[in-house]
Amino acid sequence: MSTNKPLPTPTEISAPYWNGLKAGRLTIPQCKSCGHWVFFPRRHCDKCWSQDLAWKEVKGTGTLYTYTLTRVPTLPDFADEMPQKMAVVELDEGVRINTTLIGVDESEIKVDMRVKPVFDTVSADGTTLLRFTAAGKDMAERIDSTPAALAAAAEAAASAAEVADRRQVRFDDEAAMKSLVSEAYSAWSNQIVVDQALIDEFAKLSGDDYWIHTDPERARKQSPFGGTIAHGALVQVLQSRLRIPLDYEVVGFNNMVNYGSDRLRFPAPVPAGSRIHARTRVKAVEKLPKGMQLTMEIVTHVVGSERPSVINDLVILYM
Ligand SMILES: [Zn+2]
Repeated sequence: MSTNKPLPTPTEISAPYWNGLKAGRLTIPQCKSCGHWVFFPRRHCDKCWSQDLAWKEVKGTGTLYTYTLTRVPTLPDFADEMPQKMAVVELDEGVRINTTLIGVDESEIKVDMRVKPVFDTVSADGTTLLRFTAAGKDMAERIDSTPAALAAAAEAAASAAEVADRRQVRFDDEAAMKSLVSEAYSAWSNQIVVDQALIDEFAKLSGDDYWIHTDPERARKQSPFGGTIAHGALVQVLQSRLRIPLDYEVVGFNNMVNYGSDRLRFPAPVPAGSRIHARTRVKAVEKLPKGMQLTMEIVTHVVGSERPSVINDLVILYM
Protein backbone atom coordinates (compact mmCIF):
# COMPACT_ATOMS: atom_id res chain seq x y z
CA MET A 1 0.00 0.00 0.00
CA SER A 2 1.44 3.31 -1.02
CA THR A 3 -0.88 5.86 0.55
CA ASN A 4 -3.86 5.67 2.85
CA LYS A 5 -6.05 5.94 -0.22
CA PRO A 6 -7.85 2.64 -0.63
CA LEU A 7 -6.27 0.61 -3.41
CA PRO A 8 -7.63 -2.38 -5.30
CA THR A 9 -7.20 -5.83 -3.81
CA PRO A 10 -7.13 -8.20 -6.78
CA THR A 11 -9.15 -11.37 -6.39
CA GLU A 12 -8.64 -14.62 -8.26
CA ILE A 13 -11.27 -13.46 -10.75
CA SER A 14 -10.11 -9.86 -11.18
CA ALA A 15 -6.31 -10.37 -11.02
CA PRO A 16 -5.86 -10.56 -14.84
CA TYR A 17 -7.48 -7.13 -15.12
CA TRP A 18 -5.15 -5.54 -12.54
CA ASN A 19 -2.07 -7.33 -13.89
CA GLY A 20 -2.95 -6.07 -17.37
CA LEU A 21 -3.12 -2.48 -16.12
CA LYS A 22 0.31 -2.89 -14.49
CA ALA A 23 1.63 -3.81 -17.94
CA GLY A 24 -0.14 -0.86 -19.58
CA ARG A 25 -2.83 -3.04 -21.19
CA LEU A 26 -6.58 -2.94 -20.76
CA THR A 27 -8.02 -6.45 -20.80
CA ILE A 28 -11.70 -7.36 -20.54
CA PRO A 29 -13.30 -10.81 -20.43
CA GLN A 30 -15.27 -11.74 -23.55
CA CYS A 31 -17.83 -14.53 -23.79
CA LYS A 32 -16.68 -17.20 -26.23
CA SER A 33 -20.26 -18.43 -26.73
CA CYS A 34 -22.04 -15.18 -27.65
CA GLY A 35 -19.28 -12.59 -28.04
CA HIS A 36 -20.62 -10.35 -25.26
CA TRP A 37 -18.03 -8.30 -23.37
CA VAL A 38 -18.26 -8.77 -19.63
CA PHE A 39 -17.41 -6.12 -17.09
CA PHE A 40 -16.85 -6.09 -14.10
CA PRO A 41 -14.90 -9.38 -14.32
CA ARG A 42 -16.91 -12.41 -13.17
CA ARG A 43 -17.16 -16.14 -13.78
CA HIS A 44 -20.05 -16.11 -16.22
CA CYS A 45 -21.38 -14.13 -19.16
CA ASP A 46 -24.13 -11.83 -17.92
CA LYS A 47 -25.98 -12.22 -21.23
CA CYS A 48 -26.03 -15.97 -21.98
CA TRP A 49 -24.73 -17.39 -18.67
CA SER A 50 -21.93 -19.27 -20.36
CA GLN A 51 -18.87 -19.78 -18.20
CA ASP A 52 -16.61 -19.93 -21.25
CA LEU A 53 -14.90 -16.54 -21.04
CA ALA A 54 -11.53 -15.37 -22.35
CA TRP A 55 -9.51 -12.26 -21.46
CA LYS A 56 -9.00 -10.01 -24.46
CA GLU A 57 -7.01 -6.83 -24.84
CA VAL A 58 -9.05 -3.82 -25.98
CA LYS A 59 -7.98 -0.36 -27.13
CA GLY A 60 -9.74 1.37 -24.27
CA THR A 61 -11.31 4.10 -26.35
CA GLY A 62 -14.87 5.02 -25.56
CA THR A 63 -17.29 7.78 -24.70
CA LEU A 64 -18.10 9.54 -21.46
CA TYR A 65 -21.39 8.06 -20.30
CA THR A 66 -21.80 10.29 -17.24
CA TYR A 67 -19.73 12.08 -14.62
CA THR A 68 -19.84 14.03 -11.40
CA LEU A 69 -17.45 16.49 -9.75
CA THR A 70 -16.97 15.89 -6.05
CA ARG A 71 -16.01 19.01 -4.16
CA VAL A 72 -16.13 17.42 -0.72
CA PRO A 73 -13.56 14.61 -0.37
CA THR A 74 -15.19 11.17 -0.40
CA LEU A 75 -12.51 10.27 2.15
CA PRO A 76 -10.10 12.65 3.90
CA ASP A 77 -7.29 10.95 1.97
CA PHE A 78 -8.62 12.38 -1.29
CA ALA A 79 -8.45 16.01 -0.13
CA ASP A 80 -5.44 16.56 -2.40
CA GLU A 81 -7.43 15.66 -5.54
CA MET A 82 -10.31 18.10 -5.31
CA PRO A 83 -12.48 18.31 -7.28
CA GLN A 84 -12.43 14.64 -8.20
CA LYS A 85 -13.81 14.10 -11.70
CA MET A 86 -15.60 10.81 -11.18
CA ALA A 87 -16.90 9.28 -14.34
CA VAL A 88 -18.53 6.31 -16.01
CA VAL A 89 -16.91 5.56 -19.36
CA GLU A 90 -18.58 3.36 -21.97
CA LEU A 91 -15.91 1.51 -23.91
CA ASP A 92 -16.44 0.93 -27.63
CA GLU A 93 -17.07 -2.72 -26.69
CA GLY A 94 -20.16 -1.55 -24.79
CA VAL A 95 -19.06 -2.14 -21.20
CA ARG A 96 -19.13 0.66 -18.65
CA ILE A 97 -16.25 1.35 -16.27
CA ASN A 98 -16.20 3.51 -13.15
CA THR A 99 -13.17 5.74 -13.33
CA THR A 100 -11.78 9.23 -12.85
CA LEU A 101 -10.99 11.77 -15.56
CA ILE A 102 -7.60 13.46 -15.52
CA GLY A 103 -5.86 16.10 -17.62
CA VAL A 104 -9.10 17.90 -18.49
CA ASP A 105 -10.59 21.13 -17.17
CA GLU A 106 -14.05 21.01 -15.68
CA SER A 107 -15.30 23.18 -18.56
CA GLU A 108 -14.04 20.68 -21.15
CA ILE A 109 -16.00 17.74 -19.78
CA LYS A 110 -19.08 16.87 -21.84
CA VAL A 111 -21.25 13.78 -21.72
CA ASP A 112 -20.66 11.70 -24.89
CA MET A 113 -17.18 13.15 -25.43
CA ARG A 114 -14.61 10.71 -26.80
CA VAL A 115 -12.10 9.50 -24.23
CA LYS A 116 -8.96 7.39 -24.13
CA PRO A 117 -7.28 5.47 -21.33
CA VAL A 118 -4.38 6.62 -19.16
CA PHE A 119 -2.53 4.04 -17.09
CA ASP A 120 -1.71 5.68 -13.78
CA THR A 121 0.88 3.91 -11.62
CA VAL A 122 0.06 4.89 -8.06
CA SER A 123 2.27 2.82 -5.81
CA ALA A 124 5.76 1.44 -5.62
CA ASP A 125 4.57 -2.15 -6.24
CA GLY A 126 3.31 -1.08 -9.67
CA THR A 127 -0.39 -0.95 -8.81
CA THR A 128 -1.98 0.88 -11.71
CA LEU A 129 -5.38 2.55 -11.89
CA LEU A 130 -7.28 3.08 -15.12
CA ARG A 131 -8.09 6.73 -15.68
CA PHE A 132 -9.38 8.43 -18.79
CA THR A 133 -8.74 11.70 -20.54
CA ALA A 134 -10.20 13.45 -23.57
CA ALA A 135 -9.37 11.64 -26.84
CA GLY A 136 -7.77 14.76 -28.30
CA LYS A 137 -5.45 15.37 -25.35
CA ASP A 138 -1.75 15.07 -25.87
CA MET A 139 -1.08 13.15 -22.72
CA ALA A 140 1.24 10.23 -22.02
CA GLU A 141 -0.56 6.89 -22.06
CA ARG A 142 1.23 5.93 -18.90
CA ILE A 143 1.84 8.26 -16.02
CA ASP A 144 3.64 7.71 -12.78
CA SER A 145 1.92 9.10 -9.71
CA THR A 146 4.07 7.25 -7.23
CA PRO A 147 5.31 9.46 -4.40
CA ALA A 148 8.88 9.17 -5.65
CA ALA A 149 7.88 10.42 -9.10
CA LEU A 150 5.73 13.20 -7.69
CA ALA A 151 8.56 14.25 -5.38
CA ALA A 152 10.99 14.40 -8.31
CA ALA A 153 8.54 16.53 -10.30
CA ALA A 154 7.95 18.87 -7.37
CA GLU A 155 11.68 19.16 -6.84
CA ALA A 156 12.27 20.06 -10.46
CA ALA A 157 9.52 22.69 -10.30
CA ALA A 158 10.93 24.11 -7.08
CA SER A 159 14.46 24.45 -8.41
CA ALA A 160 13.15 25.98 -11.64
CA ALA A 161 11.31 28.58 -9.60
CA GLU A 162 14.31 29.30 -7.42
CA VAL A 163 15.04 32.98 -7.27
CA ALA A 164 17.90 33.89 -9.58
CA ASP A 165 18.76 37.15 -7.84
CA ARG A 166 19.47 35.86 -4.36
CA ARG A 167 21.46 38.14 -2.11
CA GLN A 168 25.05 36.92 -1.92
CA VAL A 169 26.64 37.02 1.51
CA ARG A 170 30.33 36.42 2.03
CA PHE A 171 30.88 33.76 4.70
CA ASP A 172 33.64 35.82 6.37
CA ASP A 173 31.66 39.08 6.53
CA GLU A 174 30.52 38.77 10.13
CA ALA A 175 28.09 41.71 10.06
CA ALA A 176 26.45 40.55 6.84
CA MET A 177 26.21 36.98 8.11
CA LYS A 178 24.69 38.15 11.40
CA SER A 179 22.10 40.17 9.47
CA LEU A 180 20.69 36.83 8.23
CA VAL A 181 19.59 35.93 11.75
CA SER A 182 15.81 36.24 11.89
CA GLU A 183 12.70 35.19 13.78
CA ALA A 184 10.87 35.00 10.46
CA TYR A 185 10.81 31.78 8.45
CA SER A 186 11.49 31.39 4.76
CA ALA A 187 8.77 30.44 2.29
CA TRP A 188 7.71 26.78 2.27
CA SER A 189 9.54 24.11 0.31
CA ASN A 190 8.03 21.71 -2.20
CA GLN A 191 5.78 19.04 -0.72
CA ILE A 192 6.31 15.31 -0.63
CA VAL A 193 4.09 12.43 0.43
CA VAL A 194 5.26 10.16 3.23
CA ASP A 195 3.48 6.95 2.31
CA GLN A 196 3.42 3.48 3.81
CA ALA A 197 5.83 2.12 1.18
CA LEU A 198 8.43 4.71 2.18
CA ILE A 199 7.86 3.99 5.89
CA ASP A 200 8.25 0.25 5.23
CA GLU A 201 11.53 0.87 3.37
CA PHE A 202 12.84 2.91 6.27
CA ALA A 203 11.75 0.23 8.76
CA LYS A 204 13.76 -2.31 6.77
CA LEU A 205 16.79 -0.04 6.53
CA SER A 206 16.82 1.02 10.17
CA GLY A 207 15.57 -2.19 11.74
CA ASP A 208 12.87 -0.21 13.56
CA ASP A 209 9.81 -2.17 12.49
CA TYR A 210 7.64 -1.37 15.51
CA TRP A 211 3.98 -1.98 14.63
CA ILE A 212 3.01 1.67 15.03
CA HIS A 213 5.02 2.28 11.85
CA THR A 214 4.54 -0.93 9.90
CA ASP A 215 1.23 -2.59 10.76
CA PRO A 216 -1.68 -0.51 9.39
CA GLU A 217 -4.32 -3.01 10.61
CA ARG A 218 -3.11 -3.06 14.20
CA ALA A 219 -2.38 0.66 14.20
CA ARG A 220 -5.92 1.40 12.99
CA LYS A 221 -7.24 -0.35 16.10
CA GLN A 222 -4.62 0.41 18.72
CA SER A 223 -2.62 3.47 17.76
CA PRO A 224 -3.61 6.78 19.39
CA PHE A 225 -3.19 8.26 15.90
CA GLY A 226 -5.74 5.96 14.22
CA GLY A 227 -3.15 4.51 11.86
CA THR A 228 0.53 4.11 11.20
CA ILE A 229 2.95 7.02 11.58
CA ALA A 230 6.35 7.72 10.06
CA HIS A 231 9.53 7.34 12.10
CA GLY A 232 10.72 10.75 13.34
CA ALA A 233 14.17 9.99 11.94
CA LEU A 234 12.65 9.27 8.52
CA VAL A 235 10.89 12.63 8.43
CA GLN A 236 14.14 14.26 9.47
CA VAL A 237 16.19 12.71 6.65
CA LEU A 238 13.47 13.59 4.15
CA GLN A 239 14.54 17.22 4.67
CA SER A 240 17.08 16.44 1.93
CA ARG A 241 14.22 16.08 -0.54
CA LEU A 242 12.63 19.36 0.44
CA ARG A 243 14.00 22.34 -1.46
CA ILE A 244 13.51 25.38 0.72
CA PRO A 245 13.59 28.67 -1.20
CA LEU A 246 16.14 31.05 0.32
CA ASP A 247 16.61 34.71 -0.58
CA TYR A 248 20.33 34.64 0.21
CA GLU A 249 23.33 32.55 -0.71
CA VAL A 250 26.49 32.18 1.37
CA VAL A 251 29.53 32.53 -0.90
CA GLY A 252 33.34 32.75 -0.80
CA PHE A 253 34.04 29.74 1.42
CA ASN A 254 36.37 26.86 0.58
CA ASN A 255 34.65 24.26 2.64
CA MET A 256 31.31 23.74 4.31
CA VAL A 257 31.09 21.24 7.16
CA ASN A 258 27.87 19.81 8.52
CA TYR A 259 28.39 19.50 12.28
CA GLY A 260 25.08 17.78 12.88
CA SER A 261 22.24 19.00 14.99
CA ASP A 262 22.12 21.11 18.14
CA ARG A 263 18.55 20.18 18.79
CA LEU A 264 16.33 17.55 17.23
CA ARG A 265 12.71 17.24 18.31
CA PHE A 266 9.66 15.41 16.97
CA PRO A 267 6.73 17.37 18.45
CA ALA A 268 3.95 15.98 16.23
CA PRO A 269 3.41 12.68 14.38
CA VAL A 270 3.34 12.30 10.60
CA PRO A 271 0.53 9.85 9.77
CA ALA A 272 1.21 7.55 6.78
CA GLY A 273 -0.01 9.19 3.60
CA SER A 274 0.63 12.73 4.86
CA ARG A 275 2.13 15.44 2.71
CA ILE A 276 4.99 17.30 4.36
CA HIS A 277 6.89 20.50 3.64
CA ALA A 278 9.57 22.51 5.44
CA ARG A 279 10.81 26.02 5.98
CA THR A 280 13.80 27.48 7.72
CA ARG A 281 15.35 30.47 9.41
CA VAL A 282 18.86 31.40 10.46
CA LYS A 283 18.83 31.08 14.21
CA ALA A 284 22.39 32.06 15.09
CA VAL A 285 25.69 33.08 13.54
CA GLU A 286 28.92 32.83 15.47
CA LYS A 287 32.46 33.68 14.41
CA LEU A 288 34.82 30.94 15.52
CA PRO A 289 38.63 30.70 15.08
CA LYS A 290 38.03 28.00 12.44
CA GLY A 291 35.40 29.87 10.47
CA MET A 292 31.81 31.12 10.55
CA GLN A 293 29.28 28.89 12.25
CA LEU A 294 25.66 29.16 11.20
CA THR A 295 22.76 27.49 12.97
CA MET A 296 19.72 26.92 10.78
CA GLU A 297 16.45 25.94 12.33
CA ILE A 298 14.63 23.70 9.86
CA VAL A 299 11.03 22.87 10.70
CA THR A 300 9.04 20.20 8.89
CA HIS A 301 5.25 20.24 9.11
CA VAL A 302 2.43 18.09 7.85
CA VAL A 303 0.84 20.39 5.27
CA GLY A 304 -1.85 22.47 6.97
CA SER A 305 -0.68 21.63 10.47
CA GLU A 306 0.39 24.40 12.87
CA ARG A 307 2.60 22.18 14.93
CA PRO A 308 5.94 21.07 13.50
CA SER A 309 6.67 17.37 13.15
CA VAL A 310 10.42 17.89 13.18
CA ILE A 311 12.51 20.75 14.59
CA ASN A 312 16.13 20.45 13.56
CA ASP A 313 18.78 23.02 14.51
CA LEU A 314 21.38 22.25 11.92
CA VAL A 315 24.93 23.51 12.59
CA ILE A 316 27.08 24.38 9.58
CA LEU A 317 30.65 25.67 9.62
CA TYR A 318 31.88 27.71 6.66
CA MET A 319 35.66 27.81 6.28
ZN1 LIG B 1 -22.36 -14.99 -23.54
